[in-house]
Parts: sequence; C-alpha cells; structure tokens
Amino acid sequence: MGVLMDDLKAELALGYRILGSQGIGLGLLAHLTVRSPGGSTFWTYQLGQSVEEVRAIDLVEVDFSLKPVEGTGLVNPNLVFHSEIYAARPDVKSIVHHHGDNAVALGAIGKCLVSFDRNAGRWDGEIDLVEEYESPILREQGASIVAALGGLKALLLKHHGVLVTGENLADAVVSTIELEHSCGVQLKAMAAGELHLMPAAEIEDTKRALGSKRYYEGTWAYYKRMVTRLGLDAGIDDTRPSAFAAIAAS
Ligand SMILES: [Zn+2]
Repeated sequence: MGVLMDDLKAELALGYRILGSQGIGLGLLAHLTVRSPGGSTFWTYQLGQSVEEVRAIDLVEVDFSLKPVEGTGLVNPNLVFHSEIYAARPDVKSIVHHHGDNAVALGAIGKCLVSFDRNAGRWDGEIDLVEEYESPILREQGASIVAALGGLKALLLKHHGVLVTGENLADAVVSTIELEHSCGVQLKAMAAGELHLMPAAEIEDTKRALGSKRYYEGTWAYYKRMVTRLGLDAGIDDTRPSAFAAIAAS
C-alpha cells in the first residue's frame, strides 16, 4: 500500500468521524464512499459499524460489483447505487447517503430546498426532490437514482433520505453537513410563515462563494481541527481486531 493510499484512508476515516460529530449517519445504515485514484474502485466502511467509530483499518476497497479488492469485511449491498453513480458520473469522487431528520422531513412534505438564504442558495440548480421510486431498496433502483441525479449534486429521496455527491471527500462531507443544516432552517422558516427567496444576483454570488472549493476546503480543515480538539478521532489509527466483526459476520 502506498503513501497516497494511506493518506486517503486516514482522510476517509476522519470524514466518517466528522459526519458523526454532526449527528449525521449514526447507526448502521448511512453510506460514505470515496473513489480510488484509479477510478474503477471505491472505499467504504463495513456493515455493522456506525460512522463515529470507523478506523482507517476498517476500510474496504471494493470494485463496482462490490467485490473487495483491499481489506476484508461485509459492505452494505445497497452500495451498488454508488457504483452506478461513479460509472455514470466521472466527475463524482465521493458520495454520502444518510437518513437525516431535516432532509427526510423536508422530503416528506414534498418540498425541496429553496434559496432562502446564502447557505441554501449555494444549492440553487444543484438539488432536486425524487418522489417516485421503482423500489424502496436502493440496490434495486440504481438506474432510476442515476437518471434522477443527472448532472445534479444532490437529491432528496422522499420517504427515505438524502444523497450528496462531491468532487472529492471534503466536498461531499462538508456539503452533506451544510445541506442537512439548511433543510432544518427551511423547515423552521416554513413553520413560521411564508418563505421569501433571494434575488438571482445574490444566489449567483453565494454559489461563487459558498459553493467554491476554497470554502469547502477551509470548512473541512476546521472540522478536522474540531474533531481532534474534542477527541472524536480517538482510536482512529487503532489496529486491534474490530469489536463489530462478530455482528457483521453473523
Ligand atoms: Zn438509505
């Protein structure tokens, strides 16, 4: 394993811890994957873990049929829809899927995020709500997810959760956290009254600012400092046998 891959795994493990620090992806059903530098495989954690407990050693590299090519352990079979997105969208280098309260609540009332402030406005034209499913099981509807996603960055999946893509790991993780927050603010505003949208010029300005690489890289660096400061990265380089192995193997 080369230095580049070691760095990628350490960063990915931190990405899981960062999501967990924000209460996103807790439990066993969330997804975070990152495409390998070679392009035709991706890295993920193992079924039986929650995001806040992932260590670098727990990560598994799988091909697009979910066959492990590095590392061992059971991975979520629903990750086949990640394979289909990676195959269809060469620009996508990382994907998050979770069932966060705010995204689910917004989708449940048939609404998508709108540009009511600068944080939400950065998503203008980059997110849609999917209301129709061929199946509630993601692995059975990869094609429809890919079709709905098209060239978008994110989808709210009605009665299910949210899907966020990134041009890299930092983009996917930071954007996921910010989207969940903005969905919550929109729900609060909708409960209080009528939403007033921003003018087009302000939307374009915030897309340039808060939708930029400079912004997500700075925010990613902040989150990494934060998880270290709070000790939420404890044990991330631990190489002892995993506590969840018996669960995953059963
Ligand atoms: Zn799901």
